[in-house]
Amino acid sequence: MITRALGRRVADLARRQAEAAERHAAVNAAVDAGHAERVAFLMRVPDDLRMAVGIALCDPNGDDALHSWAAQPFARWATVPAGFQFPRALVEWLLSRPHSWFPGHACERCGLKVPLLIFDSTDPTPRPSIVVFPMCPACGGATSHTAAARGLA
Ligand SMILES: [Zn+2]
Repeated sequence: MITRALGRRVADLARRQAEAAERHAAVNAAVDAGHAERVAFLMRVPDDLRMAVGIALCDPNGDDALHSWAAQPFARWATVPAGFQFPRALVEWLLSRPHSWFPGHACERCGLKVPLLIFDSTDPTPRPSIVVFPMCPACGGATSHTAAARGLA
């Protein structure tokens, strides 16, 4: 009797250990995937700007718009070509943070997201346009809100 109860306990312990090991492996896989994604993102940044982008993205009080762009720099429908590099003009603009912005436009051809400026409606000197890159700085395609929103449910 005692041996059978002990056997059940050992089996239960082994099962729970196996479950814990499975959960641990799943967490490690998720962490590895996140790291690989971050590295892949940074490798698309021009060499000499990579460190500045990495530092900007590590700043917890940094630019929220930059964080959301970096989390999804392409429209959902886009297929990113192998070896794609973010255009220098865009990265330099993003690093300089000249004005409040959000990634509200995307290229209709390649899907790269680009900034739109945010203005207060009470701004005494409104700009004629909030568009920063009417043409994609990567491929020259037209940019639009439609291209950025396509594929969003
Ligand atoms: Zn493009």
